[in-house]
Order: sequence, then structure tokens, then C-alpha cells
Amino acid sequence: MSPASATEERIWRAGVLTLYPEMFPGPLGLSLAGKALAERIWSLQIVNIRDFASDRHRTVDDTPAGGGPGMVMRADVLARAIDAACPPGDERPRLLMSPRGRPLDQARVRALAAGPGVLVVAGRFEGVDERVIEARQLEEISIGDYVLSGGELAAMVLLDAAVRLLPGVMGNAASSVSESFADGLLEYPQYTRPQDFEGRQIPEVLLSGDHARIARWRREQAERLTAARRPDLMERAAREADRRPEPAGIDKPDRLR
Ligand code: SAH
Repeated sequence: MSPASATEERIWRAGVLTLYPEMFPGPLGLSLAGKALAERIWSLQIVNIRDFASDRHRTVDDTPAGGGPGMVMRADVLARAIDAACPPGDERPRLLMSPRGRPLDQARVRALAAGPGVLVVAGRFEGVDERVIEARQLEEISIGDYVLSGGELAAMVLLDAAVRLLPGVMGNAASSVSESFADGLLEYPQYTRPQDFEGRQIPEVLLSGDHARIARWRREQAERLTAARRPDLMERAAREADRRPEPAGIDKPDRLR
């Protein structure tokens, strides 16, 4: 195997099925994700679902069976698009962005980034025919308890979150270890120069050079913030700490280094 094909093999492959291909790469073509795309750390294949319509009007939707407002994406058209983008043997998880899905979290993002890539379906209208979800085993994923007009922005959110975790994408690999959710807590407050901003000073402890004290302070701040803003995360972190076998907390000081 040539070195080039070895590189090809490791590339994280993202595929997006959409009715609005012109929305991509959009923000994914800039900054960290854009640079990684140019460096071929990941690839992005955009599939226009409309290309798989079979009538001369290129119809992709129809009225909901049983009545009701809006339109529904047709199962047959979407299934053909999925089969073309993700043939048998393609191991990537097939995701459907959907407010009914399991909410996306950092643990899932990490798992997706560790895999071969993803195939993401961006819905439109009232959603997609249930039968294609079943027949093509689409896993529904939500980015939060609100309704967007389409799945494209949600797909970009998922891809951005995953791509920044790919090896070689973030300049400082340690930053993904200490940031929010890495250990189930929100991140501690950050400061940088100038030392005096409108009379507000950087907390003295951060200028002390005492790394153990700084680590303790950050841990306390992270816990205080999480308890105040996200008691749900705090409870989960406590439950997980209880379950963790001894020696617990070995990774905690690392996180704060
Ligand atoms: N009628 C649907 C909402 C359709 S919104 C319902 O009530 O559940 C149109 C499309 O936008 C969806 O098919 C989905 O792909 C996308 N979308 C909307 N909100 C989303 C969210 N919170 N997370 C992920 N995708 C979402």
C-alpha cells in the first residue's frame, strides 16, 4: 500500500444529504474545520437529494398521509440518495437530524469523531417519511429542544463539533481535555491580558505561578458554575464519580494542568 492510500484510509468521511447543497461547506469551510478540510484530515461529500427524484418535476415531497399541514419528504427518493451515498459495507453511522432524536452531547461527538465518519441526512418540511428511517436504520439526533426550519444547520453543528476533535485539527490538543463537558463540568472562567480591564483585575491566584493552587481554584470555579447553571450535569458528574473504581480522580488534576 502506498503512503498516499494509507492517508486516504484514515480520512474522516462526512456525507450530507440535503435539498440545499449550496449551503455547504459554508462555515465548515472556514477556520479550524476549513483548514482541516483543505488538509484532507476530513472530507465532505454533499448529495443533493433532488437528484434522486424520478419525475420530471423532480418532486421530493408530498402531502402527509392522514392530513395535516405541510409536506413530508418521500421515502423512496431519500432511500435512493442514501443508497448512493452510503452503499452496503460503508460502516459510517447514518444519522438523521431531527428534533425527536436523542440530544447530541460531547460524549456522542467524541464517539463519532473516533469512528470512520458520518452520513447525515438534513430534513426539511415537516420531516421525513417514517418508513425510510426504519428501512435505512437512520438514527435521529437532535441539537436541542427547539425547531429549526431544516437540518442543514444542525448537521453543521454536529460536523463542527466532531471535526475539531480529529487528530491534528486543534493546535493545542490539551484544550479539548480541559474544556466544558470533558469531565462532566462546565469550564472555569478564562482570563487574558490586559491585567486591568475597566478596573476589573485578573484573579490573583492565576498570576501566582502556583500550579496546584491554580488547579484547585479552577476546579472549584468549574464546580460552582456547574452547580449554579447546570445542576443536572452536577448530579451526573457526582453519580459517575461514585461509580468510578479507585483510584478515582486520577484524570482530574491532568485536566487542570
Ligand atoms: N415537524 C417536525 C419538525 C420539522 S423541522 C417535528 O415537529 O418534529 C424540519 C427539519 O429540520 C427536520 O426534519 C430536521 O431535519 C431539522 N431540525 C429541526 N429542528 C431540529 C433540531 N432541534 N435538531 C436537529 N434537527 C432539527
